[in-house]
Amino acid sequence: MVQAFGNRKSSALAGMVLAAGLSMTSHAQVADAVSTGAPAAVAAQGAHDFRGAGNPHVLPWRDPATASSPAPFARASSRTLTYYGGPVIANVNVVKVNYGAGTYQPYVSGTGAGTMSAFYGAVVGSPYFSWLNTDYHTSTQTIGYGSFAGDKSITPSAANNGSTITDAQIQAEIQRQIGLGVLPAATANTYYAMYFPKGKKIQQGTSYSCQSGGFCAYHGTIKNGSSYIFYGVHPDNSTGSGCDAGCGTSTPFNNWTSVASHELIEAVTDPAVGVATTYASPLGWYNKTYGEIGDICNAQQGTVTVGGVAYTVQKEWSNSKQACITNF
Ligand SMILES: [Zn+2]
Repeated sequence: MVQAFGNRKSSALAGMVLAAGLSMTSHAQVADAVSTGAPAAVAAQGAHDFRGAGNPHVLPWRDPATASSPAPFARASSRTLTYYGGPVIANVNVVKVNYGAGTYQPYVSGTGAGTMSAFYGAVVGSPYFSWLNTDYHTSTQTIGYGSFAGDKSITPSAANNGSTITDAQIQAEIQRQIGLGVLPAATANTYYAMYFPKGKKIQQGTSYSCQSGGFCAYHGTIKNGSSYIFYGVHPDNSTGSGCDAGCGTSTPFNNWTSVASHELIEAVTDPAVGVATTYASPLGWYNKTYGEIGDICNAQQGTVTVGGVAYTVQKEWSNSKQACITNF
């Protein structure tokens, strides 16, 4: 399958290691990894530590000039995800959100066939989800199919809508829009999938979207009293954004469904990672070396067909199959 990016197997391996390096190491180390190739990321993995509460989990931007470097890879058994006691999302309810006025990619602004909305609506009830419970249920939660709540457009406050938008501003705006009733209130199943118009740069810590040392997307967590708010951040990937170059080699839409699938499935299996500070609850399913379910298989593409439509998705790690898969 696959042919989306599947003809670049070696770059897939490099990307997968880079993802792990970025998730658990400093931004400086990540920059090294991107500029010098994947082996640097492997070397950097000794310095694991969470970057403090409130740090989301990113999908790194890959320099097209160096992403083809093959990376050494460990035995499959070392990639097994461990459960650390945090929540999973049992039946994800995706709320897709466009962040303010501007020019969006047509598959982001649109709602019919061939759009991100159609993708979410399809994939949450697909074979891409149906095996997750077998591998990643917990003692208190099962993982089943999800649902799509629909599209929302918000009007962010000017303070949260500059040319560079920080993760803290996104978090503040999600909470503000919930308070205004524009966005539905968060439940334990809600996942706000945030999308941005052309020209907006996203800042997370000291790294930025769509550039070297930065990221293609991430998912994060807001601590909300005794519960959480889960969200994913997807920058614009139009021509010239940078994310058109470093976040996949298929069509822009296929690249974005793949990136979105990576964040969605990680949010389902490790939703509270953004506020985890140690290898303990609220961390969910995680691998200390390779990161989350999507990181292990970063840049390995597959397809999921729903209603006769084939969507490009990223493969995800299966503990029971010890492999990167799209479905059982
Ligand atoms: Zn990831």
